[in-house]
Amino acid sequence: MNILVINCGSSSLKYQLIDSASETVLAKGLCERIGIDGSVLTHTPAGKDKVKVETPMPNHTVAVKLVIDALTNADHGVIKSLDEIGAVGHRVVHGGEKFATSVVIDDTVLKAIEECNDLAPLHNPANLIGINSCREIMPKVPMVAVFDTAFHQTMPEKAYLYGLPYEYYEKYKVRRYGFHGTSHDYVSAKAAELLGRTRDDLKIIVCHLGNGGSISAVNHGKCVDTSMGLTPLEGLIMGTRSGDIDPAICDFICQKEGLTPAEMNNVLNKKSGVLGLSRVSSDFRDIEAAANDGNKLARVTLDAFYYRVAKYVGAYAAAMNGVDIIAFTAGVGENNISGRAEICKYFGYLGAELDTEKNNVRGEERIISRDGSRVTLMCIPTNEELAIARQTLALVK
Ligand code: ADP
Repeated sequence: MNILVINCGSSSLKYQLIDSASETVLAKGLCERIGIDGSVLTHTPAGKDKVKVETPMPNHTVAVKLVIDALTNADHGVIKSLDEIGAVGHRVVHGGEKFATSVVIDDTVLKAIEECNDLAPLHNPANLIGINSCREIMPKVPMVAVFDTAFHQTMPEKAYLYGLPYEYYEKYKVRRYGFHGTSHDYVSAKAAELLGRTRDDLKIIVCHLGNGGSISAVNHGKCVDTSMGLTPLEGLIMGTRSGDIDPAICDFICQKEGLTPAEMNNVLNKKSGVLGLSRVSSDFRDIEAAANDGNKLARVTLDAFYYRVAKYVGAYAAAMNGVDIIAFTAGVGENNISGRAEICKYFGYLGAELDTEKNNVRGEERIISRDGSRVTLMCIPTNEELAIARQTLALVK
């Protein structure tokens, strides 16, 4: 069965058509600037050149229609008609406490997703628009929602409650939810597989280090803690997000700089992280280049990033009373060889020994620790689209 995986943002829509039998990508692409001047669809059929279609996309329904046209096009299409799409899997950012697994979408599910809008005002409404557009154009095709938060719903109360008046949890469901769940689930399962073991008898720490980053503790197959919180702002120092800070800093800076809480929130999300600290870029490659050129602030930024990762790993090793596997994934985790080496320098006390030869790898699944290392270190490319396709197939089969 062919499964269309959709990741819908407020002005963009990413897609992949995956043949679930062979688990291969038939085509993938991206619609950008939906609802803005200069909309463009970039469509890449497997093994062929990219095709760019520049045409107005006033809304997401038009974008979905263009995606279907591209997929069925006589020249650069990969299927003959809509009938060859068996199901659609949608990435949905926030499932609140309502969704601990993926679900087949119906009107009740749509309403429940809408009720989580408050918790992810930038993401959930866009995800819903994507779902509704697909339902309009493919009314007979089953659709599945796969939530970023679902995998983390197994966290115990002690890990998800904040030290705040309990009424904020009761009234507004203020608690830790965690994100990148599809990736943490996929990578922890892959890590166990690479060791020839099952996840159910292992303690695994997954370091998802991309533009956004999060770490999770997966104990015997269940997530027991993760670094992102109510929103994806908490935890690691990220591309442009601050990660953990003293919450009193917000009021302090608002007073000093005359910012509103909303403006402060924007600083924390868009102007902080390695971008704000280094004054160079949000991209780790640029910061590394600057550091190698002698830029001291860039060097300190990288050191602060690595240190924060190492602190979380230490916390999660303590939470699980040990760790068997530490797996690195996402843009930085998969590709940044020197970054992994710097982070692993902190793990001596765990008996984790990096093999510098084996660590010389980018975007490939591999054990990167020495034979006999007490903790196994791994590089594991994440594949959220494939994980969404698998979960979609499991529910519609
Ligand atoms: P997103 O959260 O947007 O999905 P990604 O997982 O794609 O992010 O990660 C993007 C980050 O990965 C960028 O900061 C980029 O610098 C980093 N990255 C990608 N390739 C490399 C590389 N070869 N070396 C160092 N960093 C890399």
